[in-house]
Amino acid sequence: MSNFKSFEFSPAINQALTEKGYTTPTPIQTAAIPHLLNGRDLLGIAQTGTGKTAAFALPILDKLTKEKKAISYREVRVLILTPTRELASQINDNIIAYGKNLGLKHAVIFGGVGSFQQIKAMAKGVDILVATPGRLLDLTNQGHIRYNKLDVFVLDEADRMLDMGFINDVKAIIRKLPQQRQTLLFSATMPDDIAMLATTILKNPVKVEVTPVSSTVEKINQTIAMVKRAQKPQLLKSILQGPEATSVLVFSRTKHGANHIVKYLDQSAISSAAIHGNKSQSAREMALQKFRSGKIKVLIATDIAARGIDIPGISHVINYDIPDHPESYVHRIGRTARAGREGIAISFCDPSEQEQL
Ligand code: AMP
Repeated sequence: MSNFKSFEFSPAINQALTEKGYTTPTPIQTAAIPHLLNGRDLLGIAQTGTGKTAAFALPILDKLTKEKKAISYREVRVLILTPTRELASQINDNIIAYGKNLGLKHAVIFGGVGSFQQIKAMAKGVDILVATPGRLLDLTNQGHIRYNKLDVFVLDEADRMLDMGFINDVKAIIRKLPQQRQTLLFSATMPDDIAMLATTILKNPVKVEVTPVSSTVEKINQTIAMVKRAQKPQLLKSILQGPEATSVLVFSRTKHGANHIVKYLDQSAISSAAIHGNKSQSAREMALQKFRSGKIKVLIATDIAARGIDIPGISHVINYDIPDHPESYVHRIGRTARAGREGIAISFCDPSEQEQL
């Protein structure tokens, strides 16, 4: 399948894809979309950067336009659950872009901000709701969301839900959904708990796997720098001063470490910003916005804050600390070389981190 025309999406969706400049479906899109259009359940083993959002969003949008249904008070037709607010905003942005000519109603719900606007957005019902589990469960328990018209449920980044301790909230939400529905589960890796969940919530699913578990994207040039902890700041500075370091995402193990790096770079007149769990939602969004627009070229992030960040054109990912889990490494360096571009990943390894390495 070499172009989007063969999916026979409604013309408005094809128009949006042309405007986005998408010409060729990515492998997961080629493999998943025809089955999703046929209403099948799907188990997608894929990490961010593979085009998985469009793989599920496009057939969903197409279904919603072709099978119009009246939505009333607090009802939702499609629920997309994702672990972080950044991912939720990003998926919502994609849905707005792909669905811009469709006149569908959508809302996004996540924690860390007031819930008043979110409740208001749900009042008249929506076609598509993108949400993180904690806040969604709260609002559901308060009666603000009704699932009786639900047609499609997408569980995105299921393995991360588990890592972040959201799995019970996810299961509680699933128990409230109608049995009769189309279900899509995406996960970069397949730990036992997720494999179990998949067997209980998916009915005769098509399995689509685009990158082997814990393997990294080939277009990333990966190197290790053996460096004493005390010398890490200087090494970082010299990399950042290189001409090819145009947009650099630095991962720090701790929030404190992230703040420390920002301070150090500041003293060297390199502007950067940090995103982590102690920063307010607006501070995180502002930092991301500045990084996206190129106002700052360095963003320091912890794993959780950086989950799913979609910023095209990241030139370098730097692991200031060696991550504890191979999956984190795959997720981290997957922030560069997105959508077929090339990228560089450098990991700083102090002798005490040899074991994680
Ligand atoms: P995702 O894995 O969904 O986070 O997507 C990764 C990136 O690829 C995003 O920036 C998308 O906008 C982009 N993308 C998705 N599908 C395509 C496509 N068929 N052609 C070009 N870019 C795409």
